Amino acid sequence: MPEPQDDLLRRHRAVLPDWLALYYSEPIEIVGGRGRRVTDSRGREYLDFFAGILTNAIGYDIAEISDAVRAQVDSGVLHTSTLYLIRKQVELAERIAELSGIPDAKVFFTNSGTEANEAALLLATQYRHSDQVLALRNSYHGRSFATMGITGNRGWSASSLSPVKVSYVHGGYRMRGPFASYSDAEYVAACVDDLREVLDVTTAGDVACMIAEPIQGVGGFNVPPDGLFGAMKEVLDERGILFVSDEVQTGWGRTGEHFWGIQAHGIVPDMMTFAKGLGNGLAIGGVVARGDVMDCLRANSISTFGGNPISTAGAKAALDYLLDKDLQANAAKLGSMLINGLRDVSAESPVVADVRGKGLMIGVELVGPDGRSPSPAAAGRLLEETKARGLLVGKGGLHNNVIRLAPPLTLTEAEAEEGLAILTESITVVDKENK
Ligand code: PLP
Repeated sequence: MPEPQDDLLRRHRAVLPDWLALYYSEPIEIVGGRGRRVTDSRGREYLDFFAGILTNAIGYDIAEISDAVRAQVDSGVLHTSTLYLIRKQVELAERIAELSGIPDAKVFFTNSGTEANEAALLLATQYRHSDQVLALRNSYHGRSFATMGITGNRGWSASSLSPVKVSYVHGGYRMRGPFASYSDAEYVAACVDDLREVLDVTTAGDVACMIAEPIQGVGGFNVPPDGLFGAMKEVLDERGILFVSDEVQTGWGRTGEHFWGIQAHGIVPDMMTFAKGLGNGLAIGGVVARGDVMDCLRANSISTFGGNPISTAGAKAALDYLLDKDLQANAAKLGSMLINGLRDVSAESPVVADVRGKGLMIGVELVGPDGRSPSPAAAGRLLEETKARGLLVGKGGLHNNVIRLAPPLTLTEAEAEEGLAILTESITVVDKENK
């Protein structure tokens, strides 16, 4: 029998940092999972619409992944060293290099998205002999010194000290920015102008790279107009600046329409970083880059655990599953269904100011009684109301007022309907309180 949860929470608080975020007024301990459902230590079942922050891309208890991991465990070798050849690492890298569309692509594996972005920044600065980078306002790229230093989201940037010098450009969260009233075409033109101006005015000499999330994740699932990054890359290309697409949230078919989020912009980036969904819960990330960029490092560089046999075996099985079952198509279909359903709810609901997203990456922005001010309180209430009805969702956004929906890509139509019904009911409750 698991111990009473209250005691675990007390012990958690005693020995883990205060700044580790915990969801819910009564945080839950998840002890089991199957399909798209998880069970907590009190025996309550939840439909999971956040997938471990977009990590359980396929869902829970997938035999193919467990078997691949078990076979590696049964070999007796959990890990030797990434100094030796690892068959699954090579096979996985071959698959990712091909899927990336990047010419002569090479892959470096890490244990997380943070390390992947750290590696991309290192490669770009070495390749270009420059310590200057561009990032988007309201971006999030990780919690290391360099990645936190380039994060453009106040809630997530505890430190502004970074080994690289960052300048921020527009192209992320538009709803409350200076270009909020612009049409898509005007917005793209404004972002391109802004980019040119930042390059000409605020940077000194050469810039190494621009890094961007095709859809900002932590920042509130902000979907820019298709083609925006293509137009911005033209400016970067004129100056030899590398473009890094941070696909940690948007990769692996999550956005439905495309396998990588950046493909909506009609370009192939110089580098992509990835993590989360690849391992379906195993710790794995990486960067896929043009061969000449990847090979620019002159010093030896290994990661003890990056690309280890267990993670790569499991990730390879997860990727095969995702591709064989064409989960991207499922994400497109059920994503549209959820977005349309939520837009119908939003039309009747004063607390919902915006429903946006692509595929199974959907943001619902909540506002206060004035119909405009961001309402983190309403988002907090919606989180609790959905949980009480057996649905787990995420929260985020610059003002912490966006509910983020990102179920596993194996979601069924019945589960999408069930989640939508719970959301509808919960929104009605929050609407009544939001006076
Ligand atoms: N990049 C993006 C877009 C992310 O959303 C995250 C995490 O949420 C990261 C990087 C950092 O990844 P990790 O938490 O695996 O270090």
